Amino acid sequence: MSKLFTVAPDSDFTLANLPFGIFSTAGSAPRVGIAIGDRILDLAALATEGGFDFDSAVLHRPYLNDFIALGKEVTGRARTQVQTWLREADSPVAPRHLVRREEATLHLPVRIGDYTDFYSSIEHATNVGRMFRDPDKALLPNWRHLPVGYHGRASSIVVDGTPVRRPRGQVLPPGADVPVFQATDRLDFELEMAFVVGKDSTLGETVRVDQAEDYIFGLALFNDWSARDVQRWEYVPLGPFLGKNFASTMSPWIVPLEALEPFRVAGPEQSPRVLPYLQTDVPGNYDIQLEVTVNDRTVSRSNFRYMYWSMAQQLAHHSSNGCNVRVGDLMASGTISGRDPSAYGSLLEITDNGRSGSFLADHDTVTLTGHAGSGAERVGFGRCGGRILPAHPSSH
Ligand code: CA
Repeated sequence: MSKLFTVAPDSDFTLANLPFGIFSTAGSAPRVGIAIGDRILDLAALATEGGFDFDSAVLHRPYLNDFIALGKEVTGRARTQVQTWLREADSPVAPRHLVRREEATLHLPVRIGDYTDFYSSIEHATNVGRMFRDPDKALLPNWRHLPVGYHGRASSIVVDGTPVRRPRGQVLPPGADVPVFQATDRLDFELEMAFVVGKDSTLGETVRVDQAEDYIFGLALFNDWSARDVQRWEYVPLGPFLGKNFASTMSPWIVPLEALEPFRVAGPEQSPRVLPYLQTDVPGNYDIQLEVTVNDRTVSRSNFRYMYWSMAQQLAHHSSNGCNVRVGDLMASGTISGRDPSAYGSLLEITDNGRSGSFLADHDTVTLTGHAGSGAERVGFGRCGGRILPAHPSSH
């Protein structure tokens, strides 16, 4: 079987991973696949020939939602079955089911209903508070009591490789008291991860913190592109708007939570103790090394384990008022910064708000990568990249 694909020593896509995505090849429709080494297993084709205990129609869709909606028991079993088949010499997986990744186009993996962005790294929130408000009171009084978040925009979330147009917007020039409308000159990335909701909850009901992981299908890398000058002028009092929603980029493969189980770790100690509905004894973080490059130069090395608030706490808080979630909803972590400046997850922090460096230039390419483990146990996320296109010429 191993003749059918090659798993390079530093491959993100080992047998321990097997993430799900949507791919197409020349002349064929987008469908569900699994990344393995340098190939994509055409799960739709394999299932059509039989072998799974569910209706293969859900694999012939241009998004993962209907497959995910079958539930973790079914999707987890399908993944374990594939894992066994890819290890065995005698299995239904044949060369025709394995597509070379370079011959495939990868698509946005989920039809995203609602998108929420949290703000869950204490280092990031402290750094931003110090720059934008008061260095002595960088964290606002609510921050250690609830996972701060806002509702974002799903329509502008794009997949790895999609170019991002520099947005135009209202900014307040230094010293001015009226704004101008111009192309942002403070274009930034935000190093984030996002989880895909895998199960509907009921409107009016809450998801308890100890149930929350049942509602999380898997994770991807996420770049919440930000126009800092637009953001700074517009965000009072209702929060982020056009400085954020012009584009966000996600990686094409959704790594199921099961694949990340060996890398589960405890998060930072929470002090003061959080309210009972957010309390849990289960370690809720994952040791995932993250890296950002700008034009192939590494500008940040961080880790998902630094998050102050876990995904389970984010989801429990999100539903604590009865707000329901649906399969395919996306919830992003917020910028993942570490203590050391080499682990800062945005140029805002890395350059001290532009004092010691520049924001993004036209034609810059920003790429996020991430992985847990190493060797045959490595579980990686592939690539989450995008290149900046110049702003459209002014029409004003
Ligand atoms: Ca963000």
